[in-house]
Amino acid sequence: MAEQGVAQVWRRIKSMYKGVGNRCETCKTYYFPPRPVCPECRRKGKLVDYTFKGLGKIYSFSIVRQAPEDFKRQIPYIVAQVELDEGTRLTAQIVNVDPEDVKIGMRVRACFRKIKEFGQGGIIMYGYKFEPTMKVTGHE
Ligand code: ZN
Repeated sequence: MAEQGVAQVWRRIKSMYKGVGNRCETCKTYYFPPRPVCPECRRKGKLVDYTFKGLGKIYSFSIVRQAPEDFKRQIPYIVAQVELDEGTRLTAQIVNVDPEDVKIGMRVRACFRKIKEFGQGGIIMYGYKFEPTMKVTGHE
């Protein structure tokens, strides 16, 4: 049982770094982060790893102007519900854009940014954030 727990934690870390989720072959639903069991099919579900392309659009967003101490340097920042092209939605910070320029439906892509740093030479956590595709590639 304990070993299974470790495997699950590792899966979550792997998914954060590489955009790996999974897909249920029975009902064709995508999950990010990966689910251990398909909530629709349960025992009939067959889950396989799937690496998301990291492309999607902003489904909804809010601009955060108040933040806990650790995040104060970053305010105001944008937190959005991103709808991936595969149909899955997730919550992520949007970077590399002014809050006034963010729009619903804007094309975004995943990028990796430092989220939190613990002291000098300490643990650095990375996570997925999104930035406008237009800013990076010049087209949507
Ligand atoms: Zn399923």
